[in-house]
Amino acid sequence: SRSDITYFGAGPALLPTVVLEEGAKALLNYHDTGLGIAEHSHRSQLASDIINQTKADLASCLDIPDSYEILFMQGGGTGEFAATVYNFVGTWVARKLQDIIRDNDRKTNGGKFGTIPEESTWKLSKDPALVYFCANETVDGVEFPDFPQSLQPGPDGKGPIVIADMSSNILTKKIPINNFSAIFFGAQKNLGLTGITVVVIKKSFLPPATSQPPASLMRQLGLPIPPTIFQYETIAKNNSLYNTLSIFDVYIIGQVLGKFLQTYPDKVEGQQAVSDKKAQLIYDAIEAFPEIYKIIPNKAVRSRINICFRVTKGDDIDAAERVFLEEGLAQGLIGLKGHRSLGGIRASNYNSVPLEGAEKLAKFIRAFAMS
Ligand code: PMP
Repeated sequence: SRSDITYFGAGPALLPTVVLEEGAKALLNYHDTGLGIAEHSHRSQLASDIINQTKADLASCLDIPDSYEILFMQGGGTGEFAATVYNFVGTWVARKLQDIIRDNDRKTNGGKFGTIPEESTWKLSKDPALVYFCANETVDGVEFPDFPQSLQPGPDGKGPIVIADMSSNILTKKIPINNFSAIFFGAQKNLGLTGITVVVIKKSFLPPATSQPPASLMRQLGLPIPPTIFQYETIAKNNSLYNTLSIFDVYIIGQVLGKFLQTYPDKVEGQQAVSDKKAQLIYDAIEAFPEIYKIIPNKAVRSRINICFRVTKGDDIDAAERVFLEEGLAQGLIGLKGHRSLGGIRASNYNSVPLEGAEKLAKFIRAFAMS
């Protein structure tokens, strides 16, 4: 049953059982209206109230100031890869898109996985139009430990446009919101259900629709004009209700955030302490047996959220990992198989993994090594 397992899957992740129970009731009959929440109009007051409360709670959890707008969108992180570039190039017509850095260029680590090149080796232009990075890379388990020094705004508060994908580590650590022009994340790992994506964008980057860049420039850059549904300005103007948004998905995010705020009076810092502790427990167990396990990413940049390692017990790694997964499964530790392109083991330490779950996994890692 649900209470017998701990789920370490990379996404979607577990949702708190109480949130699902409340959600199930709301689907049938929301607040005694006789109508389920997914059946109410997205144009109703009830829908606006849910959206506004959820935005307020997210702002509270992450200390998002009023100078930022919160958008609920569809299309996932994958949609936002494109949408951020469309929108930001659009607002920055005077420059051209110069640099996109990736946090985890596999080539720079001699073909091995799991590093972030030293900042001193980054080849950013002197004055880049836009810098994009993935704050936590889910496949190899690599996380930026801090906001990059070279992207910090200067004393005048001005800096490059910085956009970050926080799909897998949002709400697991305090972030310097003011350093970002925009961040985005799918809800399905730390926040809610699959199918809804959140964008937090500095309002100054929401231009009036009339300042759309000329189509000729977009063509020159090889960028199509963004579909309306991906225009941040349009979505912001309509309080995320340009078209039919799943209010149920927003409601679930709201429930998760409500529980978050109840659990952690000090908000994301409270969660960060727990996330760090869970990660430390698991890494300590792995590191206690260097002959049996090998952590994939470099230590300085290893992720607190996606913990990726190989089981090097005996000569046959694949066989050792199969046994590891089978024995884990027998103990209710599931979702530990690494990404299909990499193999190995990946324990995803999202917010719904309880401390006891991490303890159980750490204990199993130690016992397996000694068996
Ligand atoms: N960014 C990161 C860091 C991810 O982990 C994922 C999915 N695992 C994506 C983007 C893609 O997101 P989606 O599946 O919501 O399109």
